[in-house]
Amino acid sequence: ISPIALMRAARISAMGEMATGLAHELNQPLTANLAAVSACRRLFTKKNGAHKTKILELMDHAIAESKLAGDIIHQLRDFMHTGTTTRSIEDIDAIIDESLALAALGTGKTKMKIVRNFGAHGTPVRINKVQIQQVVLNLVRNAFDAIEKSPEKILTVSTSCADNGAVDVRIADSGPGIASDVANRLFDHFVTTKSGGMGIGLAICRTIVEGHNCRIWTEPASSGGAVFHFTVPVAKT
Ligand code: ADP
Repeated sequence: ISPIALMRAARISAMGEMATGLAHELNQPLTANLAAVSACRRLFTKKNGAHKTKILELMDHAIAESKLAGDIIHQLRDFMHTGTTTRSIEDIDAIIDESLALAALGTGKTKMKIVRNFGAHGTPVRINKVQIQQVVLNLVRNAFDAIEKSPEKILTVSTSCADNGAVDVRIADSGPGIASDVANRLFDHFVTTKSGGMGIGLAICRTIVEGHNCRIWTEPASSGGAVFHFTVPVAKT
């Protein structure tokens, strides 16, 4: 880690960390929202009824992204109020599906293949829904970035029941894999190999998953891509 990165890391107060995280998490839905609304506006000015379906689709996209941004702000406000985040019993398959749909919206990645292996189907988990959605979104967006330039574009999302009362979520991509020089500090702040990257996404993921008393880690894929795992607690009945 460079001295500059060390100094920057040392300067981050709890407040600063929260603000940086919030900026990172809100940037994506707000950018997507702006793009969707701008496209609607362009289509409207063409005064052509044939665009109606596309306009409705773009508006649904804008609504979904605005809702996500609102949810992120609400749960931060709850956290500031009570010092805790609410947990509820959720269906992890539904959260993954919602996150995949959100991540894919507006990306135009039509040639990408998404494989779902939901082995833990029907197992209730006890989590903060918005936070775990943020984890999945960050991992899926990183996977999309990774496979962008690969000839083969496959994203595989799997769930399975681990033997320690947790559900294991695995997100694997057919990208180039993790660069060896950052492999052992991926989850630290400001570690990025992307020209416009903030290096915050995986740090947020770790904070959220560890806040659920669970684990997040990566392993090399036999096929050469990257594999990320995290666990979430099974709801005790
Ligand atoms: P950012 O996306 O801003 O770089 P992250 O914390 O999300 O920040 O990711 C940190 C770094 O981890 C990335 O810059 C990249 O080098 C590596 N990384 C994350 N996901 C993948 C992936 N699926 N394949 C290869 N490298 C990855």
